[in-house]
Order: sequence, then structure tokens, then C-alpha cells
Amino acid sequence: MAVVLIISPHLDDACLSFGAQIASYTSAGHHVLVHTVFAGSPVPPFSPSADRYHRAWGLTGDPVAPRREEDLRAMQLLGATSSHGDFLDAIYRRDEQGDWLVQPGSRPHTRFMPEEPHLSKAITARIAGLVEQHAPALVATAAAVGTHVDHQRARDATIAACRATGAKLRLWEDLPYALWTNEMSPLPDGTALAKRRIAACGKEAREHKYLAAAAYVSQLPGLVYEGVGLFDLLDRRWSDLADEEAEALYGEVVWTATDAEAREGDPCDEPGL
Ligand SMILES: [Zn+2]
Repeated sequence: MAVVLIISPHLDDACLSFGAQIASYTSAGHHVLVHTVFAGSPVPPFSPSADRYHRAWGLTGDPVAPRREEDLRAMQLLGATSSHGDFLDAIYRRDEQGDWLVQPGSRPHTRFMPEEPHLSKAITARIAGLVEQHAPALVATAAAVGTHVDHQRARDATIAACRATGAKLRLWEDLPYALWTNEMSPLPDGTALAKRRIAACGKEAREHKYLAAAAYVSQLPGLVYEGVGLFDLLDRRWSDLADEEAEALYGEVVWTATDAEAREGDPCDEPGL
């Protein structure tokens, strides 16, 4: 049985975007480790933007500790092992001048954000350490559809770590962002996306994903778009995709990231892995 290493930017991204694949891998007997990069607990004072999110999430005190608990439950439901990085979410970070990275009224999207070279280097080192420790047959992370700065930081660090170690990498379509945009944060030099495909799976994997997603209780009120809740949004995305993969009962979009070191084939498609 193989190890699959999942790099999730935030506590819920892997489940929402790739949860059915995770359920498929674990039910096939593979060991899936889901590492969330931006899962660190911030120290007050918080930015006005962070305060607004905390009110929406109904969280007081340490706002991330209960979210880590939600993630533990969700990953248990998927049969995966979770681990939590201690980097801070963009809403808790400051720029080099000491100002909050995410200002009130602005969104944490890459086109508005300064570079964070020290952070990127530290995340890359962390992920490279995980790749070396676990020798995964496959690494998967966000493609940064929707251009969230944290998704880009996690993605680019994962790409760099995989390039350094030769690990095989897949990028997932970020949900629910992909429902309203196909804009993706620019990829690092020397990286291109190839082979977009729908990773198909069965009804059970979909059910496991939805059950696990429901464990992110604090996040559900914020995962509403134009009055439509998360589970209807996920259904809506699948109904958009279903024509492409007529035989499948459910599926999630993934890309192969190619560069000079990329190899062909998806090890998780190979029977007996
Ligand atoms: Zn996220």
C-alpha cells in the first residue's frame, strides 16, 4: 500500500476539493496523510478583517484550535491522518511594514498581495521534509483557482518541494471557488498544467466527502454563494462536470503539473498500488 501526501492550504480545502479522492484512496487501503499548512494559532490583537471572519464563524478565544478539531473529525471520517502546520492564515499576517496583509474590505487574493519570500521558503522546507519522511507515491495540493494567496503559497511550495525530490504531483480544482471563477494564481516559472481530467469515483466516496465536509461546522455559514449552501454548490459543480465523464457517479477535477522532471501516469490509477 502506498502513501499519498495531501497538502491543504487551509483546514477544509483538501476535503472540499479532493475529499472524494481521499476517500477512494483510503478505501483502497492506501495511507493518506493530509497536512494543512496554515493551521497555526494567532496571538491577539487580530486585524479588523480577522475579527469579521471570527464573528461570521462564531469563534472566540483561539479561533483556530476549534477548526483543527473539526479537521481531525473530518479526516477521521475520510479514513485519513491529519497533521497541522503552524503557519498563520493570511488574515493574521502582516507585511514588511507591519501593516495587516489583508485590509478591511479587501480580499486575500494574490493580485493584491506583496511577495512573502521568507514565508515561501519556510513552507517549502516544511513540505520537502514531509516528502522526504513519507516518500509518497503521489502528492496533491490546490491549483489556486480563485487566486487565494494562501492557496498559491501552499501550491508553489509544494511544486518546489516535489521538483527538488522528484515526487509525483497532482493539483486539484479549488472548490467552491471554481463555481464562480476559473482564474488561477500565476504558476511558478518552469511549471505548466497539463492533462486536466476528472478523477472519477463512486457514490460512496462522494457520501464520505459530504459527511466529512459537514464536520467543518464553523465554516459552513461562510461557504454560501448567492444564497446557495455548500452542499448544493458541490452538487452544482458536479452537474456541470458530469457530461464530461458520463460513466462516473462523482468526480473532482485534477491537473498534472508538468516540468522537466515530470513523469507520466498517475500511480493512484494503477491497480494494486
Ligand atoms: Zn482555503
